[in-house]
Amino acid sequence: VQKEKVAIIGSGNWGTAAARIISGNVTRHPNFHSEVKMWVFEEIIEDRALTEIINEQHENIKYLPGFKIPENVIADPDLLNTVRDATILVFVIPHQVLCDQLKGNIHPKAIGISLIKGCDTDETGIRPISLILKEALRIHICTLSGANIANEIAEGKFTETTIGYKIREEGELFKKLFETSYYRVGIINDVIGVEMCGALKNVIAIGAGIIDGLKMGNNTKAAIIRIGLLEMKKFIKMFYKNIKDETFFESCGMADVITSSYGGRNRKVAEAYVTTGKSFEQLEKELLGGQKLQGTLTAKEVCAMISRKGLENEFKLFIAIYRIAFEGLAPNKIFDAIVD
Ligand code: NAD
Ligand code: 13P
Ligand code: CA
Repeated sequence: VQKEKVAIIGSGNWGTAAARIISGNVTRHPNFHSEVKMWVFEEIIEDRALTEIINEQHENIKYLPGFKIPENVIADPDLLNTVRDATILVFVIPHQVLCDQLKGNIHPKAIGISLIKGCDTDETGIRPISLILKEALRIHICTLSGANIANEIAEGKFTETTIGYKIREEGELFKKLFETSYYRVGIINDVIGVEMCGALKNVIAIGAGIIDGLKMGNNTKAAIIRIGLLEMKKFIKMFYKNIKDETFFESCGMADVITSSYGGRNRKVAEAYVTTGKSFEQLEKELLGGQKLQGTLTAKEVCAMISRKGLENEFKLFIAIYRIAFEGLAPNKIFDAIVD
């Protein structure tokens, strides 16, 4: 049998935690070649290249310090070299740095999976990252998204996730690549639904952080989560056909909204925005140690889309979150959006 060769594109906080999971599974399952390549956006840390640190010390000391990366993961700063022989491409980079250098440079039989939580929009509508990848690279793409705070997974804490597939065999192959005793994978025939939940929950998490910054307590936050979920579902179903209702009850749906609204980076930075008045860009630099925020960009994309369509009254919470974060609207105005 032809063994699948895996390349991971990205090596941030989640990319590195995912590499740890994948590295164990490729040695357990006969479907896979035991070496995994990981593309690293090179940077110098205390006079050493990050790739060198990962390959010698077997730890990503910047983005996932304190956790070993097994030796079958090989860090490579050269993107095209990383993907050259790979038949499985795992995309896990912040969506704002998505590159199209890969076009024409991947294995003809490659398939991919996107772990990215974000989306783009333009005049024609929503542009999920999976669709951008699929069209640019002409490959099949699955999506993986769930209540997945990377550090908790690295610690081996019980976690669920969801893989969206179009072709069931591909969903099952990716389940083999990701599932462990503590990381449980559900698969569902809904590539875009899984992905778009992962993008939009980041906007809700900013709302939850605003509530935390206002020190409003649990009931208020639960209200934001509930109303946010309804807007998320409405938005995805309005702009995309064939989205399954069940998707919203998988890990990628409600569960991710909850974990992100309590433990995520978007929540943390939004809380600090309310308490300090500093900009999101400034706080991202100060609080995240090089990690990236996705929710602010997604809020911009999504709200631009809502405004273009004149649907502000249908998505009052999303719009209020956007205006608080970017237009200087007072944080307590969030309540105007949730009181009918
Ligand atoms: P991260 O937030 O740790 O981002 C930093 C990464 O971006 C680093 O690897 C850095 O080298 C890279 N980078 C910075 N500038 C770059 C550039 N110009 N070009 C290329 N790369 C550059 O990354 P992450 O946490 O692995 O997030 C990747 C995706 O996974 C995001 O869509 C995120 O929403 C999603 N995700 C994250 C988590 C989590 O808990 N961290 C959980 C689930 C999903
Ligand atoms: P943040 O990017 O807000 O940290 O969310 C992480 C995540 O996606 C948890 O599922
Ligand atoms: Ca756009």
